[in-house]
Amino acid sequence: MQTIENYDFSGKKALIRVDFNVPLDENFVITDDTRMTAALPTIKKVIENGGAAIIMSHLGRPKKGPEDKFSMRHLVPHLSEILGGIKVKIAPDCIGDATKKMAAALKPGEILVLENLRFHPEEEGGDVEFAKQIAELGDCWINDAFGIAHRAHASTAVIAQFFPKDKLFGYLVDSEVKSLDKVLKAPRRPFTAIMGGSKVSSKITIIENLLNSVDNLIIGGGMTYTFMKAQGGKIGGSLCEDDFMPMALDILKKAEQKGVKIVLAVDVIEADAFAETANTRVVPSNKIDDGWSGLDIGPKTIEMFRKVISESKTILWNGPVGVFEIEKFATGTKAIGDAIVEATSKGAFSLVGGGDSVAAVNKFGIADKVSYISTAGGAMLEYLEGRVLPGIAAVLE
Ligand code: AMP
Repeated sequence: MQTIENYDFSGKKALIRVDFNVPLDENFVITDDTRMTAALPTIKKVIENGGAAIIMSHLGRPKKGPEDKFSMRHLVPHLSEILGGIKVKIAPDCIGDATKKMAAALKPGEILVLENLRFHPEEEGGDVEFAKQIAELGDCWINDAFGIAHRAHASTAVIAQFFPKDKLFGYLVDSEVKSLDKVLKAPRRPFTAIMGGSKVSSKITIIENLLNSVDNLIIGGGMTYTFMKAQGGKIGGSLCEDDFMPMALDILKKAEQKGVKIVLAVDVIEADAFAETANTRVVPSNKIDDGWSGLDIGPKTIEMFRKVISESKTILWNGPVGVFEIEKFATGTKAIGDAIVEATSKGAFSLVGGGDSVAAVNKFGIADKVSYISTAGGAMLEYLEGRVLPGIAAVLE
């Protein structure tokens, strides 16, 4: 199979779909350039191998055609800087004669950024003719935008048909897919997933898919109380989705049938307010007092979760097990992070993904002590649900 490692870029113009949808402040200063730095290895590989790079992305949510505040030109100086001062050109559009001319004139080692793809509704519409016009600018297509791999847009998937032999994953997508597959397709056992966060409803499909592959499923966070109430527990004012109680019971039943061990909290920290100043007590997870809510896992639960994690060889963590944004309720989430770090240091493969767990590992300063952090959000969640992502399938087909 052709990969970014073995593909010969010399004399070629590589169209690279990146996710440069970065946050900008009112002066168009980039406030977080993670997504840009993440694409650097792929861009550098192309130009260092004697190719020219044509970089394309969306930025923000333009509604009706071009809007200056969403212009890719705001990113050009910073891109040039993080590439070590290489000159970066900007095209007036992503299709059309003027853009075509600029692309045609590119020499090896040069970089051209196309204007925001979403200035054309055809991008999100997955328009074939639009994709064809973009395709005409380059000799090969590299998909390095995992964050939108779950969308069948013109530049993320549809364009692949114009490069039957010359389509590749960039380094970022490649490492995302490899890391997720390590967990989902060939986990070393025992495989433990820790699902936290607020709602059962947003995690239900992932949980159901994971029941096919995990040995242990730790459930924490706000989801706990839907499970407790469904089993007849008292949950006071804790978060609960009554409509999902039957599904919670169904998960418990399916887990038993499949031999998956479900690990739920046995004790929790209940609080009389959603605040740092709240009064707190440790209580059994199914005996929360009226007027109080469970906002973190308790000490017995921490020990229980820690033991399961420490014996695991593959660990997937999605979602905090408490309201970790408030210091008073961050103990459980921090303990989970520490347990994962410890298991990783003993050789386990650990993958952390989903916005809030990534925020948690950053907050606790352990980002470099887990095996892989997926920042892809929606795309990663869909992958965990077992869905085929159009942007991945387009390269592999
Ligand atoms: P999610 O986006 O579904 O992963 O949810 C993340 C959010 O869940 C975080 O903002 C946490 O504060 C919140 N959360 C975690 N545990 C609880 C809990 N016991 N009660 C209420 N919210 C919680």
